[in-house]
Formats: sequence, C-alpha cells, structure tokens
Amino acid sequence: MLRLEDVTVRFGERTALDAVDLQVAEHETVCVLGPSGSGKSTLLRVVAGLQRTDTGRVLLSGRDQTGVPPHKRGVGLMFQDHQLFPQRDVAGNVAFGPRMHRTGKEETARQVAGLLDLVGLPGAGQRAVTQLSGGEQQRVALARALAPRPRLLMLDEPLGQLDRGLRERLVVELRALFHRLGTTALAVTHDHGEAFALADRVVVMEEGRIAQAGSPLEVWLRPASEFVARFLGFDN
Ligand code: ATP
Ligand code: MG
Repeated sequence: MLRLEDVTVRFGERTALDAVDLQVAEHETVCVLGPSGSGKSTLLRVVAGLQRTDTGRVLLSGRDQTGVPPHKRGVGLMFQDHQLFPQRDVAGNVAFGPRMHRTGKEETARQVAGLLDLVGLPGAGQRAVTQLSGGEQQRVALARALAPRPRLLMLDEPLGQLDRGLRERLVVELRALFHRLGTTALAVTHDHGEAFALADRVVVMEEGRIAQAGSPLEVWLRPASEFVARFLGFDN
C-alpha cells in the first residue's frame, strides 16, 4: 500500500531522514517510535506530500507520488497539535475534510453523525469544541482525519496531550476501530507502550534512520541494538 524507497530529507547540515526504506501493507497499522528529533513527523510529512525530499520516492498503491500534491494523494493526516477550529462546532470540524464539501448537506450530516458514533462521541455534533475535554477533542480530530475516507491514515502523536489513563483506554479503542474499518494506518508516537498496544508492526527511528522494524514482540524480545534496548527502557 505504502512504500518509501531511499528517502532522504536534509535541512541544511541536519539530516532529518537518512535513506529510509519502509513499507506498510494494506490494513496494517505501523507505529513509528523514536526520540524527539529522530525524524518521525518529517516521515509523515513526506508521505503526505508536505515535505520535499532530497533523494528517494514515495509510492502509494504502487504509484510514484513524485509531483502529486497533498490533496490528491488520498491520505489523511492528524497533526501532532491537532488544531481544531474553535469557532466551529464539533460537526463543523469533522465536516471540514476536503472531500465532504462536494456532498450535500444531509449526506454530510449523516456521515458526520456516523463518524461521531465511531469515535465514541454520539450526538456531540452541536457542541462547542472549546467546551470539550482534551480526550474528546482528540476524538473529534480523529473523526476529522477519517472523514475523507483516506486510503492511508497517518496520525502524529494522536494521544500525545492526554493523561496516561485516557491514553491507555483510547489506544484500545483505536485498535478496535482500525480493525473494524480495515484501516491502513501509520502512527507516530514516542511512547513504546502505546506503539506496542496499537501496532501490527513497530518501526524504531534513530537520528533519521530506521534502527529496527518488526512485530512488537520481536522488537521487545530482541532489540536490534543498544539504542533500541535503551529506548525501550531496558536500562532503568
Ligand atoms: P518530536 O518527537 O519532537 O516531534 P520528530 O521525531 O517528529 O520529533 P522531526 O520533526 O521529524 O522530529 O524533526 C527531525 C529533525 O529535523 C529535527 O532535528 C528537526 O530539528 C529537524 N527539522 C524538522 N523540520 C525542520 C524544518 N522545517 N527546518 C529545519 N529543520 C527541521
Ligand atoms: Mg514530531
């Protein structure tokens, strides 16, 4: 479904991504783990078409995406700071997805209601987003990312701003939701517990390179390097 080949991104002297090869299969959830500055957000931005690359290419469903603008890639991206529109209500935020503009009012309302059910916020369409809890706001952002039915859903620290209890609950819900919808997802987190709970496959990044990729169990049982082991917390 998604394939990155030899992708390098440099910012001046700094190499944010260093010859990255990565594949995500259809219906698979891959979690990208790594410390701050290791290139996780840059990776998502490259796939979304928001970041130019110095080398390599991105393929979606076998098609080279070089030169394809973000809105034509069919991918959804939920940003690190999810940035809801405070002046719009919940439904207005969810319906912001570009493809929904072309649907009629009633059809849009029906789709929005369905999405709010999915993320566990039934009937919340008319609520002001400013009055929602952090967890509820994250759910709205998730519904918005799902709205255009992207063939690939990318999430950058989707639960980042929440407390641990809520994160642990939402991660279980997310996994169930992805299974139900057959979602193909690429999610970034710096929390290995979250990645292991959500992912079919985990990718650990170190300074723009992939330090290890494998099933959560493989990575947990056989960290490929001291860096990975330390990142997983085996030294404390
Ligand atoms: P975090 O966990 O803090 O979100 P990250 O893994 O998402 O980190 P990136 O945002 O991908 O990291 O950044 C990777 C590296 O590239 C960092 O060293 C960062 O400073 C640098 N970088 C990212 N975007 C830019 C930019 N627009 N201009 C210059 N440097 C950048
Ligand atoms: Mg980031």
